[in-house]
Amino acid sequence: MGLLDGKVALITGGARGQGRAHALTSAREGADVVLVDIADQLETVPYAMATADDLAETVPQVEALDRRALAVTADVRDQGQLDEAVSRGIAEFGKIDILIANAGIWTQGPFWELSEQSWDEMIGVNLTGVWKSAKAVAPHMIERQSGSIVITSSVNGLEPGANYAHYVAAKHGVIGLMKNIALELAPHGVRCNSINPGAIKTPMTDHQGAWDMFAGHEGGTEADLIEGGYHFHALKGMTFMPPQVIADTALYLNSDLAAAVTGVTIPVDAGHMLLTG
Ligand code: NAD
Repeated sequence: MGLLDGKVALITGGARGQGRAHALTSAREGADVVLVDIADQLETVPYAMATADDLAETVPQVEALDRRALAVTADVRDQGQLDEAVSRGIAEFGKIDILIANAGIWTQGPFWELSEQSWDEMIGVNLTGVWKSAKAVAPHMIERQSGSIVITSSVNGLEPGANYAHYVAAKHGVIGLMKNIALELAPHGVRCNSINPGAIKTPMTDHQGAWDMFAGHEGGTEADLIEGGYHFHALKGMTFMPPQVIADTALYLNSDLAAAVTGVTIPVDAGHMLLTG
């Protein structure tokens, strides 16, 4: 018996990284999944974003767990595309019980040098995209008087970070948004919580630009990233963590184990906030 038997989960950013871990964990625990991803490159993002192949590859991985998967190409900045993804999910699987609003981008620059386009893409995806994702599922969850929404924030939703003003603003913003969604949906039996990941090893963080950032110079290597991860976290032996640590926390929040938990944010940061908070 799984913790999510018979449930249906819609996961934004489901093509790879944490989104794929959410999909496989939800499926392993008995849920069918709707995978939503832009599967395209945004102009201000310097690392390679997910591709159509990444999105397609997640489907057989879910099916190998004996659950169904529907992949939908959609941009979380586009309400029409999200509404369509929700409609297709309901048509295919009959309902949506869970939303994991995970899609996000990570770019950098001193706040006075950020271009308007960079600011707009960041806020559009990482903040407004979460609102639009929740807006797309809310009427259905209200009608069913049940549901769970998990939002991916960051430790940068709890603290500043040099060169991340737009990311910090968005990730703080989604915590406020989470509390309001939790408040407004509580009378309808729908819960909403968020997670603050520490450093997670995904294609967002594991690339030359991130290696250089942790090295403090060009020509950085993966070893610099790993070393930086140890310094970032307080817990012994914890460098960049696998996406599974976040998927496990979302699983708890989406399951009946957390039936009385709503309106909270959970750092999953190997003690990072102890060092800085
Ligand atoms: P990732 O780049 O591997 O995955 C992000 C996914 O979101 C990609 O598949 C991408 O295509 C998708 N996406 C981006 N913009 C989109 C849009 N407009 N519409 C639909 N899909 C879109 O990175 P990840 O580490 O798996 O990131 C998942 C979440 O975790 C993000 O919200 C990120 O900010 C957050 N986070 C990551 C870390 C980390 O260390 N990796 C730390 C804290 C928070």
